Amino acid sequence: MSSRVFDYIAAEQRRQQENIELIASENFVSENVMKAVGSCLTNKYAEGYPTERTSGNRGRYYGGCEVVNELEEYCCDKWREVFSTDYHVNVQPHSGSSANQAAYFSVLKPGDTILSMDLSNGGHLTHGSAVNFSGKIFNFVFYNVTDRGFIDYDDLRTKAQTYRPQLILAGASAYSRIIDFAAVGGIAKSVNAYFMVDMAHIAGLVAAGAHPSPFGIADIVTTTTHKTLRGTRGGLIFCRKELANKIDAGVFPCCQGGPLEHIIAGKAVTAEEACSPEFHAYIRQVVKNTKAMCDEFIRLGYEIVTGGTDNHLFLIDFTRTHPHLSGKDVQDALDRVHITLNKNCVPNETRSPKQTSGVRIGCAAMTTRGWKEVDAVACAKIIDEIIRSL
Ligand code: PLP
Repeated sequence: MSSRVFDYIAAEQRRQQENIELIASENFVSENVMKAVGSCLTNKYAEGYPTERTSGNRGRYYGGCEVVNELEEYCCDKWREVFSTDYHVNVQPHSGSSANQAAYFSVLKPGDTILSMDLSNGGHLTHGSAVNFSGKIFNFVFYNVTDRGFIDYDDLRTKAQTYRPQLILAGASAYSRIIDFAAVGGIAKSVNAYFMVDMAHIAGLVAAGAHPSPFGIADIVTTTTHKTLRGTRGGLIFCRKELANKIDAGVFPCCQGGPLEHIIAGKAVTAEEACSPEFHAYIRQVVKNTKAMCDEFIRLGYEIVTGGTDNHLFLIDFTRTHPHLSGKDVQDALDRVHITLNKNCVPNETRSPKQTSGVRIGCAAMTTRGWKEVDAVACAKIIDEIIRSL
């Protein structure tokens, strides 16, 4: 251990152990996930896919793939088990962004129209932001949220009929309510658009039955594996079987080269864990903790976007209650006392994304550390004291 890098790793480990972690997209992985992603599988090149069972895109371009072939098939099988689905799954995307990129390229041409939720209303960069590949290559139109921050399904239907998109996307990075996949899927069908769900944030809840599942409704489902799924950093794409070859070609060779087999091993361990009753109990506790913390903020007089939460996160909007404070002010003040969260835009945001008028709070990571409702409530009180001192 002579490399300077190990000093950085030790310092980051200390930071993670000493901080209260409230970033809604973060979590703490198990020792087994760590072991898998730190394994010799990082040495292996394996461009292509494990079998040539289906025509077209499958088969490997390198020798020596007999072990990783089995591993990758096993990983796919476990992910289908996690979500009780028979959809095709591609476990190679390096991240959630790569998964979305490959999914778009699989079924769309540059310039095609996608109807999605804007970043400022809770969507993700890859859902059409002008600074992202998505907004540069495809023609995005956006559905709105209501004044209280709920998805406006009427606006979604109207925009679908007006713009006739090739793809409608549901899913978000900062949305605290159940998403009605059946409603969006019905609208997509009515305008003959593909229906894609990016469940990156809520995938752990879907796995545990704490959020309705998009399987059976969506044509394509993308996710990350590192948020509520509590696994290694990475992405997955699920699709209806008839889209399998398109999706596989969209990942490799369209958007990626060699798969990261050590990460695929980490994803397989993550899937094993996500099938367990312990994981389902963990997710139920995440939802309880998040609601308890959110309710305490409401009791303390804060304004919550949509007035509450159904999942692992919520957003505080300071616009009316603390007009002198930006989300960045609060994030910085909490950083000084080792409470980590992120500033976040709120509906009808008036400040820049670097300042924002709100913060996003999630309980997935601290629930892994053993939090119960009482801890979440105590933390809300501490955050309130700090905010009142600003
Ligand atoms: N999709 C959603 C909804 C997300 O929230 C995120 C990440 O925050 C991503 C995609 C992208 O994931 P990654 O950071 O792994 O590229």
